[in-house]
Amino acid sequence: MQMKDKTVLVTGGAGFLGSHLCERLLEQGHDVLCVDNYFTGQKRNIMHLLSNPRFEMLRHDVTFPLYVEVDEIFNLACPASPVHYQFDPVQTTKTSVHGAINMLGLAKRIKAKILQASTSEVYGDPEIHPQTEDYWGNVNPIGPRSCYDEGKRCAETLFFDYRRQHDLVIKVARIFNTYGPRMAMDDGRVVSNFIIQALKGEPITVYGKGEQTRSFCYVDDLVEGLIRLMHNTEDDFSGPMNLGNPGEFTIMELAETVVEMTGSKSKIELRPLPTDDPMQRRPDISHAKRTIDWEPAVPLHEGLKPTIEYFKKMLEE
Ligand code: NAD
Ligand code: UDP
Repeated sequence: MQMKDKTVLVTGGAGFLGSHLCERLLEQGHDVLCVDNYFTGQKRNIMHLLSNPRFEMLRHDVTFPLYVEVDEIFNLACPASPVHYQFDPVQTTKTSVHGAINMLGLAKRIKAKILQASTSEVYGDPEIHPQTEDYWGNVNPIGPRSCYDEGKRCAETLFFDYRRQHDLVIKVARIFNTYGPRMAMDDGRVVSNFIIQALKGEPITVYGKGEQTRSFCYVDDLVEGLIRLMHNTEDDFSGPMNLGNPGEFTIMELAETVVEMTGSKSKIELRPLPTDDPMQRRPDISHAKRTIDWEPAVPLHEGLKPTIEYFKKMLEE
């Protein structure tokens, strides 16, 4: 599934997912314009792409209007880890909401197709399991996670209103927990935390009793899903579409797997469960299977290997 000769804008392109997406789009022969304000992204994530004449980098904050000419927009700009998005919650909401308005306005002006990186957080602490796209969610509107959850929900609303009101071609992906090389070292997400703790021989910090579950998708699978959704030829198909790995693990299982795979002597320590931490999360991906013929190919054990190698290298530097 390839489309040639497009110029593609990736906002948040210097981040974890964004940098992998830029890389894959370049491999497919596209011109890529990466836009990022480096809030959580890093130049080193895209350094290897700078010598490619088809790649261009622009430092810009999506809460301000952007005037460029492109064919497609992947809107990924937004801090994604609880530690980062709670650092400046007002800015997080602005990035989701003002960022969506600016990118949708751009898409409208230049008639570009636009994809929103939404999230499983729109389901909040879900009362149905696994989560299907028609579930409206159980979200606390006033808690510490709300800046992210409600910001992303509002962005989804804006995307669908722009479709209804302005006939924009939109795609909305609801991304479930994704991991892999180039996750930020300091982002506090569970996979990076556990691997770094295990490699350093520090205690593995399991929040609560570790009975809460998550489903972990390897980054290569996720990027493939995003590109398939964007390039789905049925322009009237907008989603929302769950993208994630349906394999479900308790956080304790993840901790034990990481300790075993790293051969670490680290002990598991229980810490308080953060407010509004969802108890279970697993995507129903039948929609993605049916519509874009997508399902993840990399099981957790396989995806953890290159991720551990990446963090090992980072710690040696
Ligand atoms: P990340 O923090 O590594 O990347 C986000 C990027 O956006 C960073 O490069 C950051 O500098 C940039 N950014 C933040 N605010 C900006 C602004 N105002 N203007 C321009 N750039 C800005 O996170 P990620 O894991 O790569 O997530 C990318 C997207 O995918 C986010 O929108 C996130 O909500 C979504 N998502 C990720 C996951 C996951 O598990 N990784 C799950 C669900 C949704
Ligand atoms: N978590 C944990 N220890 C950590 C970091 C996270 O037990 O050091 C737990 C966290 O409480 C949550 C799960 O792991 O239940 C996933 O957390 P993450 O921040 O990666 O993502 P999210 O909560 O947004 O799914």
